[in-house]
Amino acid sequence: MSLFNVDLPKTLRERAEHSITQLRAAVSEYKNVCYANSLGSESMVLTDLIWEAVPEIEIFSIDTGRLYPETYDLIERVQQRYGRALRIYYPEAAEVEQWVGENGINGFRDGLEQRRGCCAMRKVGPFRRAIAGRGAWVTGIRRGQSASRALAAPVEWDREYGLHKVSPLLDWSETEIWDYIRKKRLPYNSLHDSGFPSIGCAPCTRAVQPGDDARSGRWWWERADSRECGLHPRRKIPAVAVAALGGAQR
Ligand code: SF4
Repeated sequence: MSLFNVDLPKTLRERAEHSITQLRAAVSEYKNVCYANSLGSESMVLTDLIWEAVPEIEIFSIDTGRLYPETYDLIERVQQRYGRALRIYYPEAAEVEQWVGENGINGFRDGLEQRRGCCAMRKVGPFRRAIAGRGAWVTGIRRGQSASRALAAPVEWDREYGLHKVSPLLDWSETEIWDYIRKKRLPYNSLHDSGFPSIGCAPCTRAVQPGDDARSGRWWWERADSRECGLHPRRKIPAVAVAALGGAQR
């Protein structure tokens, strides 16, 4: 079901077309482009845009080994819908064995250093392998997700990983994401229907109450300003910008 044979509202169609234009420009400019699919709601939109309109972008996901069963089910449903396979990257077995041996099976709960160590081993390591040799990577971040993400640009040089970072959904609202998913009947993680706006590893994600910050269910035992996995390092937010954005850095 392509973008062009579904009755999308005009504003949503324009959003989608603009995102496709950004994706095509990235391919034209950086050639070897990949999309790091986090399997959240934004990812379902981006997967649809890419596989329908810009299929030369390779889509990959990272299986940390600690995902929810519902997330594995989603991977299957996505692949069945499009008749294509996501490339899945895994952590190095030897690194997992060593880390668990030194820190314990749930050692990421013991402190920020341990949690970041687990994310580095299970997420960042496979991510570095996935982007090696690429000209740009695509992300599904939106400005509305946090004060830090509100300051992102559609195309940025990612100093941490040494390639360009393209964010074609930056200006989409959460409502628009879900309108697109429903209009196009896209698959999505069933946990979203149970109070999970943002879904990561099972032991580090929980449901939130209606109206709560969308990312408050991730690493909820930590201070709010540390809750990123390492793929999107937090920006330092000037106080004046925090005020303009309507609250504390999330
Ligand atoms: Fe480890 Fe939790 Fe990070 Fe997953 S989210 S890699 S389980 S610390």
